[in-house]
Amino acid sequence: MPGLSDAAHFPGGHTAGVVVPRTTAEIPDIVRAATTLLAVGAQSSLTGGATPMGERLLSTEKLARILDIGPTHIRVEAGVPVVSIQEALAARGAWFPPVPTFTGAFAGGIVATNAAGAATFRHGSVRPWVQALSVVLADGSELTIRRGETHARDGRLSVPSARGPIDVVLPTYRMPQVDKVSAGYFAAPGMDLIDLFIGSEGTLGIVTAVTFRTLSPVPTTAMALVPCRSEAEAIALVGDLRREDAVAAIEHMDRRCLEILHEDGADRRYDVAFPPHTALALLVQLELASGTTQEDAFDQIQQRSGGTAIGRVCERLRARGVFDDTEMALPGDAHRAGQLTALREAVPEGVNQRVGRAQQEIDARIAKTAADMIVPFERFAEMLQIYRDGFASRGLDFAVWGHISDGNVHPNVIPRCYEDVEKGKEAILAFGRDVARLGGCPLAEHGVGRHPVKQALLRGLYGDEGIDQMRAVKRALDPEWKLAPGVIFDR
Ligand SMILES: Cc1cc2nc3c(=O)[nH]c(=O)nc-3n(C[C@H](O)[C@H](O)[C@H](O)COP(=O)(O)OP(=O)(O)OC[C@H]3O[C@@H](n4cnc5c(N)ncnc54)[C@H](O)[C@@H]3O)c2cc1C
Repeated sequence: MPGLSDAAHFPGGHTAGVVVPRTTAEIPDIVRAATTLLAVGAQSSLTGGATPMGERLLSTEKLARILDIGPTHIRVEAGVPVVSIQEALAARGAWFPPVPTFTGAFAGGIVATNAAGAATFRHGSVRPWVQALSVVLADGSELTIRRGETHARDGRLSVPSARGPIDVVLPTYRMPQVDKVSAGYFAAPGMDLIDLFIGSEGTLGIVTAVTFRTLSPVPTTAMALVPCRSEAEAIALVGDLRREDAVAAIEHMDRRCLEILHEDGADRRYDVAFPPHTALALLVQLELASGTTQEDAFDQIQQRSGGTAIGRVCERLRARGVFDDTEMALPGDAHRAGQLTALREAVPEGVNQRVGRAQQEIDARIAKTAADMIVPFERFAEMLQIYRDGFASRGLDFAVWGHISDGNVHPNVIPRCYEDVEKGKEAILAFGRDVARLGGCPLAEHGVGRHPVKQALLRGLYGDEGIDQMRAVKRALDPEWKLAPGVIFDR
């Protein structure tokens, strides 16, 4: 059963009731009967978007059927978790690349938030992988939208519905030109109708089924944990590695993250010893040709064979003087790769635990205070400096980690008192202005939800006029403001 809060622990959740349909055919009547309705998936939202504020909750958990698998696609109901999609595909030698780190998220949830993951650097966010969507509109109309079938004309989209075509005037703002954008409604000249619903966080329609594009064969993966002596060295190395085809993603953990791993014993638990001079660690995920064996990879690394994918990556590490400190999880060593991934995951866990403890022991108003911002990689060093200066000048303890290959990281405050939370919010709003100035997006992958800071960041990005244009889209499709009211923007 769904709960009254989501992974953001947004306070004050309450509902008019819960409905758990067993078939998608029940949804139009549920929508027609409701005054307000919030569709939820796994409630892993980090923005409060899956926390009901008096609406009826529509859980998609029983809509868990895989409807069809073909050579290049999979069609699933909205409640199928990402992990089940991967398992079903793996049995056929295929895979779905743009998965978020939390693989318990549902198909409908990742579409509604245009989720992204580590491998977005190589494969993009969820959006381009959606080939078709079945959606129920606020008036109960059922719509199946296939990519490529309906495009905007003269800044308008015509949306078929039971009450006739709905004329939607599209927002005129220019979206940031970066690889991850989860910042309100998609809008672009000549856009595809399907893109209006992807990333709309449940406010324009309820996703009942999705067809995702898939890839095969499944690549062989390997991983490298690279301790770097300085931030500048790490960023230069990431710049080199971004040019290598084998690199699917690069994650980063700053010095404070490494301290947290040490304080929590996670480094010992996963048998990792960082050299004392480590300022920042990178976790490089590699995709190699399907069927590459451990022996092949080992030979290619030893022979310094710059002609092979993994050989070239190692040459890059050698050229920057970090190869000797690097630990590789070679193809087939799933155990070690799992440990290195768990080490990276222990960072947000460690920070979240500290926030939870401070909330319990110091002040109940203390909450997670974090951002999810992306800038073009060329501006990343500048942005990191801005995060550091902005937090340090306010006397805050903080840690920064994330998807460095995308220029997308998560600056997090480690609050010691409630004032730290207030100062952290102020810093994050200032970062949002800097990110926009640098051509990035202050809302990269988690969406906007109900979070006041995220809604303020969205207003900062597109201005009041942009928000009003989104409201006009919502009003056209949902005149009674029935679906997910208060999510992304208020009425
Ligand atoms: C540990 C952890 C790691 C995470 N890592 C990532 C990451 O790497 N990348 C990333 O992008 N996110 C990440 N997230 C956030 C979260 O997993 C994603 O936002 C995910 O897409 C939400 O899916 P869900 O099924 O849990 O949706 P929910 O949280 O239930 O809902 C999210 C929003 O989508 C709407 N919604 C859900 N289902 C539907 C539907 N069927 N129709 C219409 N609207 C719907 C809801 O109304 C809500 O506004 C992480 C979260 C956690 C807890």
